[in-house]
Formats: sequence, C-alpha cells, structure tokens
Amino acid sequence: MKVKDTNKRINHYKEKFKVCFNQYFEPQKKNLVLPLVFILIFYGIALFLRIKTGNNFYLLNFIYIGTALGTGLFLTTSLKRNYSGWGRRIPQLLIGTYMLLFIGVWMKENIQIEGFFFYIFSGIFTGSVLHYIIAKVAGPVVFNRGWCGWACWTAMVLDILPWKNPEKGRVRTLEKFRYASFLISLILVIIVWFALGPERLSILDNHVLYWLITGNLTYYVLGIFLAFFLKDNRAFCKYFCPVSVIMKLTSHFSLLKVAIHKRKCTECGLCEKNCPMNIKLMEYKKQGTRILSTECILCCTCVDICPEKAIHMTFKYDRGFKEYLNYSESKVIEKYNGENK
Ligand code: SF4
Ligand code: SF4
Repeated sequence: MKVKDTNKRINHYKEKFKVCFNQYFEPQKKNLVLPLVFILIFYGIALFLRIKTGNNFYLLNFIYIGTALGTGLFLTTSLKRNYSGWGRRIPQLLIGTYMLLFIGVWMKENIQIEGFFFYIFSGIFTGSVLHYIIAKVAGPVVFNRGWCGWACWTAMVLDILPWKNPEKGRVRTLEKFRYASFLISLILVIIVWFALGPERLSILDNHVLYWLITGNLTYYVLGIFLAFFLKDNRAFCKYFCPVSVIMKLTSHFSLLKVAIHKRKCTECGLCEKNCPMNIKLMEYKKQGTRILSTECILCCTCVDICPEKAIHMTFKYDRGFKEYLNYSESKVIEKYNGENK
C-alpha cells in the first residue's frame, strides 16, 4: 500500500514538473551549439593562462565567466519568449557584480578605464589589463559588443530602469560626448601620472578604491540622470561611455552578429521599434547585410520580439562601416540636435 502511495506521489510531482517545465522552456538540441562554443573558448583561455602563469585565479575566473555566459546563452534560446530576457539578465548580474564587487572592491583592482590607462603607463600586466584586452579590445572581433549587453556592471543597473524602449530615437549631438569623456579620462590619467612623479605607483596601490568608487558613482549617477531625462535606459551607453569608443573600433569586424531572414521577415518593424540602441534593422535588411552597426550590444531583444522568428545570431566574417541609426524627430530633443537630419 505504502509503495503504491509513494509511486503515485512521485508521478504526481513528475507531472507537475513537466507542466512547469513546458510553461517556461522549449529546448532544442541546436540551441546547445553557441553556449558550448562560448564555454569551450572561455575554458580554453582559463587553461592556457593557468599553464602559462601558474596562477589558479585565472582558471577560476574564466571558468566562472564562461559558465555564466554559456548558461545565459542557453537560457536565452531555450526559455519561452516572455521569459527569454532572463537568459541575458542572469549572466549580466552574475558577471557584473562579480567584476565590480569581487575583482574591483575585494581584490582592489581598478577596472575602470582610468585604471586600465594607469596599468598601461606603469607597464604592469594585471587582471584589469587582461580584462580590457579580452572583453573590450580583441573580444569584440568575435562577440561584438556582447560585453555591453551581457556583462557590463554599469548597464546591469541601468537595465533595471523602466525606459527600455527609447521610442524617441537617438540625439545625434550628444553622441560627441563619449569621445570627450574618453579624452577626459585619458588626459586626467596623464596629468595625475606625471604630476605624482616617483609617488605615482601609489595610485595602483593605496588609491585604487578611491578611483574605482568615484568613477563608478559618477557613471551610475550620470547614467540614471540621463535615462530619466531622455527616457532611455541606455542613454549613458550611447552618449557618455568612454569604453564604447574602444569597442566600436574592433566590433566592426565581429564574427557574431544578428541577421534577419529575408523571406521570413514581414517588415512589421517591431524589432526596430524595440531596439534599445535605436538601430535601423530594416535598413540593413534592405541592404541585404547582417546588422553591421557597432552600436549593437547583442541584447537579443529583436530576436525575442520578432513574431516570425526571423532574427537570429549568425557567425561569419563580414564587415561594414555604415551605421543606420534612428535619430530623434521629437521637438523637445531637436533643440539639442541642431542640424540633426
Ligand atoms: S556602452 Fe559602456 S556603460 Fe554601456 S554597456 Fe557598454 S561598457 Fe557598459
Ligand atoms: S539590433 Fe537587436 S541585438 Fe542589436 S542592440 Fe538592437 S535589439 Fe539588441
């Protein structure tokens, strides 16, 4: 009698799990390919650096990041449309908090762009330099500006804000400010570096937390202010982030890009309307190319929202220097635009 009851209960829970699973997931074997490629790349880097340096930190660091990314990629393609956004949010939160709190605050590495400049000037090769090389200089040749969509600790906070869909488009005039912010960071580091003279190495030691916290707080305050003012979560990324200046150079050549299936697409425009970076997807479709814009952060919003499932990630070599972006026509914002159109 007891065995019968236990079997009944097990079947009941099996059934419940199945219903629950089917409500959230629609996994397919082909969805495993991209996550596995990413996991292999990151595990390979982990092993290579462990063997080269003898440092276990690299092993743990890249296995953690690779696993978070691989899991996120798998969830993005396997969760049902209403929930697939979590596939990106989970690694974004896991990697963003890990980088900021563990590498930055706990291990006292200045992972802000100023820290990168300081380490380069000092000739000291640290985790921060490696991070910039992999995520922001060489990495975009493979995975585009995936850093911005999937791992950035600044965007991890900005993506929580309510203005996910910047309907008014981009403000062309404000775009110049990110180049200014890049130069300000570089000039600030040069001035401090030379002004400090023989004391300069203290900046990489005693003052790391000061630079890290001040820099991040500035980004968060400015990012939230801009998002609120322009009703656009990603306004900071479009107009002020100095890191995007570096990534835009190499992401031209990215192997991983979003593509629109010509025949499946009905040109309903939903993808374009919802792109957080205001990319004109339909224009790229007309040109018969993949989404070549260096503004694409591979967030997969367009992939998830397309009712025809006509948008997908593709991996091949091409490049293009033409940016098709939606600029604002709003009267409120036009005053910033000047000659805009
Ligand atoms: S543009 Fe800058 S702030 Fe935005 S996601 Fe990329 S690195 Fe982060
Ligand atoms: S084109 Fe698609 S993947 Fe790229 S930023 Fe826009 S919505 Fe995200």
